[in-house]
Formats: sequence, structure tokens, C-alpha cells
Amino acid sequence: MSIPDKISALKSQLPAGVELVAVSKTYPASDIMVAYNAGQRVFGESRPQELTAKYNELPKDIEWHMIGHLQTNKVKYIAPFVSLIHSVDSEKLLNVINAEALKNSRVIDVLLEIYIAREDTKHGWDETELVEYLKQGKYKEIKGVRIRGVMGIATYTDNMSQVKNEFMHLKELYEQLRHDFFGNNFDIISMGMSGDYEFAVECGSNMVRIGSYIFGQRQYR
Ligand SMILES: *Cc1c(COP(=O)(O)O)cnc(C)c1O
Repeated sequence: MSIPDKISALKSQLPAGVELVAVSKTYPASDIMVAYNAGQRVFGESRPQELTAKYNELPKDIEWHMIGHLQTNKVKYIAPFVSLIHSVDSEKLLNVINAEALKNSRVIDVLLEIYIAREDTKHGWDETELVEYLKQGKYKEIKGVRIRGVMGIATYTDNMSQVKNEFMHLKELYEQLRHDFFGNNFDIISMGMSGDYEFAVECGSNMVRIGSYIFGQRQYR
């Protein structure tokens, strides 16, 4: 299937209200344009430098999402234009995004990346630490950032019951955080990739990040 066929297959398969983020990291701008011409406007990238280069080159009505691990010293490159940062995994990063947003007279939407996998290769908040941080109430003073929800990456495994457990757990934590701290504007659960998005949607995801299913096998450079 071509890129446009993959996108329309996904669009018809995903329930209403589930946003598709086309993960274009490592793929050339020409592939993004094929998806763009098929109507896709939301793209995800994981490296600030690649994200910035593609932003400069491609149409300005694209919504760019930062989905990969973000170092604090790289925030300044993406702060002027990024639509959503999925990978906020520390208080320090939250504070730097806030400062860069204010410099750009923007409010940047972010998700809290939660560590849900049983692998030590993944990033994210430890839940206990996150709740302790939120109980201090300091997040309420951060005016340049809007915390919109959570993101999680499940363990890379064939054991789909484990994957489902991790997704259900993230959904429960999301509900708890929404109830205890954030309220109605906390409305995004970013979970699910090419290999597991169907399970993620079953477990309550409303934003899936799909790359290789759309664009083909990735060649890491
Ligand atoms: C690369 C990546 C994806 C997309 O992965 P695919 O398996 O290609 O769909 C989703 N989320 C994150 C955080 C990624 O880094």
C-alpha cells in the first residue's frame, strides 16, 4: 500500500476522537509531502535538529509534535513553533520549556511522559515522583506551559497481555491525575505505535503515534 492508502486505512480504522500523529523521524521531507497531500497535518519527530530543519522546509500549516527524549539545552530550537511536546519527563525540563515559551510569547502544550514499560531503555516520570511533584503545587505557577495529558511507551514485546496491562495502567493514572490535579483541560492520552496501536485504542488512547506502518521500514542514520 502507498503512503496515502495507509493513511486513509488508518483514518477509517481509528475511532472518532483518536488523533493520528504521523511519525516522520528519519523519513525524507518528500515522504512527508506525500502524506501532507493526502490530508495529514500532524507529524511527530524525535530529534530537535531534524524537526527544525523539516519545519523550515515544509508547509507552515503542519502541526509538529516532539515525541522523543528532549534535552533541556535543545528546547530553544523548537520552542518557537512546536505544537505539542509528548516527552516531558522531569521538573527541570518543564521549567526550561516554560522559560523558552515565555521568551517566544507562547504557551506550549505538553504531555507528561510516564514510565510504564518493564525496560530500562525508556524515559519518563516515575509515578510516585510525579505525584509528589504535583502535590507541591508548583506546576500551577508555570504560565508558559499547558499540561494536556500523558504519554507512554509500552514494553517492546510479543506479550500483548503485558502491553495491554501497561496501557490500562496508563489510562488509570491519567484518570487519577485528571481528577486529583488537572481537570477537564487534561484531555490527551498519547499511547500506541505501529505495533500496538490497536491495543492502545482499546485501552482508551486518544492519540496514536504511527511511523513505520505509514512510511515503511525505517533506516536509522
Ligand atoms: C519512533 C516512535 C514512534 C513510532 O514508531 P513506529 O513503530 O514506527 O510506529 C512512536 N513513538 C515514539 C516515542 C517514537 O520514538
